[in-house]
Amino acid sequence: MVFTTLGLILGYRCNAKCRSCLWGKMLNNGPRMSIEDACFWVDQAYALGSLMLIGLSGGEPFLYMNEMKTVIQYASKNYELPSAASTNAFWAVTPRKAETTLRSLYDLGLRRLLVSVDDFHQEWVPLKRVQNCLSAAKSLGIHCTLVCVVTASSNKLSYYLEALGVSEGDNLVAAEAPCTPVGMAAIMLPNSDFPLHPGVPSNYCTLLKSLIIRPEGIVHLCCGAGFTVDALTAGNLREERLDSIIERAEWNPIFNALAVGNGPCHLATALAEERHDDFLQNSYATSCHACHHILSRPGIEGILQERLESQRAELFLKREILDQIGYRNSDLLKI
Ligand code: SF4
Ligand code: SF4
Repeated sequence: MVFTTLGLILGYRCNAKCRSCLWGKMLNNGPRMSIEDACFWVDQAYALGSLMLIGLSGGEPFLYMNEMKTVIQYASKNYELPSAASTNAFWAVTPRKAETTLRSLYDLGLRRLLVSVDDFHQEWVPLKRVQNCLSAAKSLGIHCTLVCVVTASSNKLSYYLEALGVSEGDNLVAAEAPCTPVGMAAIMLPNSDFPLHPGVPSNYCTLLKSLIIRPEGIVHLCCGAGFTVDALTAGNLREERLDSIIERAEWNPIFNALAVGNGPCHLATALAEERHDDFLQNSYATSCHACHHILSRPGIEGILQERLESQRAELFLKREILDQIGYRNSDLLKI
């Protein structure tokens, strides 16, 4: 497996409480990542041999300015690695403040920003601050990606591009992300906001492609909306080194079934074969919604492990082949 980005979740604090937030009750609870841990984990991730970028997120990582600066500088100085940060831009109160804040990070090695803009974030952050952030980033040559979480009834990306007076170009890309009903979104948003797709959607899965570490040392290997579910925990860096966590994860039949299926379709098949599929919904909003629903079911991880055990080697090989040809699609190779 090739991991090009290490995502460090610095903590769960945030100035906002978005109705779409994946963290749910964890928001503003739980530990923050210490600088010592963060640097040690950067060392371990760099030793894997493929790292190209450090990504800092939270919560809102700009509330952890000291940690952020130290980690950016550490990665740049020791490994010549650039860094990225995701933010809601609450700190960009004026054009000048935006410029001074970003310049101090750029000088240490920040080269990319993921900036949230959508109906949910803008209930907490004035749009003008996003504008200040984008302008300052542009003047410094920091590449920005605008991420707009959308539901059936929300404003879409085109609305925000127009409101911000920006368009995609050299230094800016923008994308919509469908809201997934997990965390706050499952409680705060009406069902009608989530267009449902029949069956178990399997058209998106980043498992075994992403590397994310939480402040507790928990390692996740996907960045989909359901990634916080316990069954998707690959290990804990307080108990084990990163290379051995990854070595074991590569061989995990549930992880490989998700990766090969580009989502949880093979998990649903395995549950049907075991006659444990009566809890499945007729439709889901996204692959990650279905994945989260399946894997958060008590006892289901054990049932799947047992059922997929005989396919462990086959699933591993199929995922390896798909990775090597750079293409993961359930239509290409079926179990
Ligand atoms: S800004 Fe991000 S972390 Fe903060 S509440 Fe919104 S979605 Fe959650
Ligand atoms: S489908 Fe599951 S494993 Fe794949 S990206 Fe979504 S939450 Fe992660």
